[in-house]
Amino acid sequence: MKHLVNTLVFFALSICLWVPDSQAEDSAGREVLETMIEAYGGDTLKSLPGLRVYEDLANIPLGQGYTPDFDEIGLLRRDVRLDFTKGRGSVETLIGESGDRFVSRIATVNDSIVEMDYDLGIYVRNAAPSYIAAFGVSIRLSDTLLVHRFATDPVSRATHVGEEVYLGRPIVLFDLELDGLPPMRLHVDKEAGWVRKVTRSSPVGRLAYVFSEFARQEGIGFAREMAFYAGDRLRAFTRDRKVTPGVIDPTIFSIDEGLAESKGLVDMSSMTADRVAENVYLIGRGGTYGAFYDAGDHAIAVNLAPGLGDRFEAYRKVSGKDHSLRYLIMTHHHGDRLAGAVEAFDLGVIFVAPKAAVNSLRETLVEPLPDERLVVLDDRHELGPLEIHVVPSVHSLANALVFHRASQTLFSADHFTVRHQGELLAADQSGVELASIVDGLKLDVTRHLSSHSPRTATSVEFRRAVAAYKPTLCPGNRPICQD
Ligand SMILES: [Zn+2]
Repeated sequence: MKHLVNTLVFFALSICLWVPDSQAEDSAGREVLETMIEAYGGDTLKSLPGLRVYEDLANIPLGQGYTPDFDEIGLLRRDVRLDFTKGRGSVETLIGESGDRFVSRIATVNDSIVEMDYDLGIYVRNAAPSYIAAFGVSIRLSDTLLVHRFATDPVSRATHVGEEVYLGRPIVLFDLELDGLPPMRLHVDKEAGWVRKVTRSSPVGRLAYVFSEFARQEGIGFAREMAFYAGDRLRAFTRDRKVTPGVIDPTIFSIDEGLAESKGLVDMSSMTADRVAENVYLIGRGGTYGAFYDAGDHAIAVNLAPGLGDRFEAYRKVSGKDHSLRYLIMTHHHGDRLAGAVEAFDLGVIFVAPKAAVNSLRETLVEPLPDERLVVLDDRHELGPLEIHVVPSVHSLANALVFHRASQTLFSADHFTVRHQGELLAADQSGVELASIVDGLKLDVTRHLSSHSPRTATSVEFRRAVAAYKPTLCPGNRPICQD
């Protein structure tokens, strides 16, 4: 499964419309805000018809590396084009990881926000409810777009809250109150006016955008460098960044030729608990799903992701069984799983984990894990109605594949996902690898389950999607990947 979803979710946590107020409460603060607007272009900035920001970022998938020891840097390019005169935008994104490249674009088309997926060759209408929902992330990642928004939006509040010295420079701090969005703090160089940092708290801890290496292009100021931190850990940084002020080519506000309309995205907004086969359930919401197996007098769960308690409650309800949850199978060492470790520990489960993931599990738990609460998986293991195979794949050096013999269903966590309704469109490289792993193990699978979608796939449609896979370095031949 591509990390695209995770990456977007991560940045989405920091979506924030900044509704500025050029009226700081005191004259010192007001003066700094005016200096800031001047640094970024003053009247030229305020009257800009549009701005293009192209950035090439190093994306650091914290805790999502091939092994628990390293986080391999991934490719992340973004081509942001905002048309201020008409309040519309287009953001194209290239993500490179695990041997695949994924290119997508979200754009205003007439009155709708459309998402285009060049890997799958499809588009979805109404992919976001508003301009700011679609493009707020991009505004937050650019100091220039932030200041532009501040300088041109009449409804805003910036409160002067203090001063600090940062890297030897005097900095003035402002709290920004944003229309319906979480607050953030702006760190402005008192003399030069540059935005040095934007910080805010979020459900995953403090987020910080650190800007540096300021330059001007046609009178418009911008930071050549941006580093994004989650807590104290570097999450992404720029390798290249360019801004181009001016009129945005209107032809981009359309759906590219050759794309077919999707039947829509799979609805993941509320908890679903589906009985996939006898004694097998797929339960979850919001892009996090786990399988539950009725093992006679107890239940076995797979997927150590946050929300296990809620999923288990849903299992009891849908199965009608008053089971205890005895085993929890952790598929691999990735951080999006480990985030649920403490919750699972408190539920009293026995952890079943690949050997390569055990250290990460122990390190994540607050309390020591007693031996009787851990089953270490080598390569093949039987657990009640289940057969567990630990295999390497492009996704991770050790993945536990969970095969339920009676129903011939296979839970493979991150090896394929289905975001779109209708037919399964195409696999990525990890899905192709899964197909050959299943062949090698001689598993007679009739249905595939994964961890980021409630939509399962029959073996026939999974194989068809795998057969449709075409490795390419540039999906859709988009300019963003042609270098
Ligand atoms: Zn993973």
